[in-house]
Amino acid sequence: MKILVINCGSSSLKYQLIDMNTEIAIAKGLVERIGMEGSNLEQKMEGSSEKYKVEKDLKDHKEAISLVLETLCNEKFGIIKDLKEINAIGHRVVHGGEKYSNSVIVTDEVIKNIEECSKLAPLHNPANIIGIKACQELMGDTPMVVVFDTAFHQTMPEKAYMYGLPYEMYEKHAIRKYGFHGTSHFYVANECAKQMGKKIEDLKIITCHLGNGASVSAIDRGKSVDTSMGFTPLQGLMMGTRCGDIDPAVVTYLISELGMSANEVNEMMNKKSGFLGVSGKSSDSRDIEELEEKGDKRATLTLDMYYYRIKSYIGAYMAVMNGVDAIVFTAGIGENSSLTRAGACAGMENLGIKIDENKNNVRGKITEISADDSKVKVYLIPTNEELVIARDTQALLK
Ligand code: AMP
Repeated sequence: MKILVINCGSSSLKYQLIDMNTEIAIAKGLVERIGMEGSNLEQKMEGSSEKYKVEKDLKDHKEAISLVLETLCNEKFGIIKDLKEINAIGHRVVHGGEKYSNSVIVTDEVIKNIEECSKLAPLHNPANIIGIKACQELMGDTPMVVVFDTAFHQTMPEKAYMYGLPYEMYEKHAIRKYGFHGTSHFYVANECAKQMGKKIEDLKIITCHLGNGASVSAIDRGKSVDTSMGFTPLQGLMMGTRCGDIDPAVVTYLISELGMSANEVNEMMNKKSGFLGVSGKSSDSRDIEELEEKGDKRATLTLDMYYYRIKSYIGAYMAVMNGVDAIVFTAGIGENSSLTRAGACAGMENLGIKIDENKNNVRGKITEISADDSKVKVYLIPTNEELVIARDTQALLK
């Protein structure tokens, strides 16, 4: 069985074709600048270091998906002979609201519900829907499944997901914590249990998904009991360009005292803050680490704030779960930056957390990085959201 996994962003589209017999992605690709000048596709095939590149104007996601399908079947660079070899399509959808605590097969009603959730994720859900509809048009009867970023966190108890606002804000407007990166937290927590040779039902795990967007989750016996992102992906850790936790009164102050519009505040908090805002130079952690090494004080402050906030969430979630057996680092920064892993775990020996500097000198592969005498195990586990989507798709179609 071959499953095509599609992750549509507003102007980009990531895809993988996964052979479920081996669970290996036989083709991986990225389409960028959809609807803009200079749109292009880049595809890598399993077992080849060559990249196949196409530059072609793509006016919308339908044209982008059409090019993806053409590329997968391309005589020279393709990986399949016929589109019929694609047995199913799995779509990543960011927001499933309170309706979905699991993945589901696509129906008209599911699409309608995802559309309803668009007001909760205006940057993401509309693009996801466009991707689903484009596949329906181009792939006819091929079965499709959607996997929600929010679904895994639907097990959070009320006391964790409610905000201290008037109750009708929740009842009438669905304002509450939802959490995101669910497929990633789920995947790495389960991989961690496998690494430890234990059942996830016997473990308390804190997973740190540290990419351009970042969140920490408390996973108690396999269930998400709290997570740092909230109503939107703006809450929680400081990120590449997002501010993370701030006093909400800052927002009203910016509007009433500085005369900023709601849109301007939103743009500033989502796109001009975080690493970029504090350092004044870059949203990329590699640049910040380099600047710090050269003695840039604002870069040092940026990293200190970043580590401090991850550490604060680890401490909070240890309290929430009455301890922790393992901490996992994943995603772009978590998998690649030994400085971040060391910084976030520094000075927690009294809590039983100690990293081994040599073991931590690693990137991109499953590794236990805790010291031999660390009570809590610490791991680097590369995430694989696409595989979770493909597995869910296969399971639902069975
Ligand atoms: P993601 O959103 O998971 O793709 O992660 C993107 C982030 O990972 C960016 O902020 C990059 O700076 C960071 N990243 C990727 N590779 C490295 C690396 N080798 N060292 C440090 N950070 C990295």
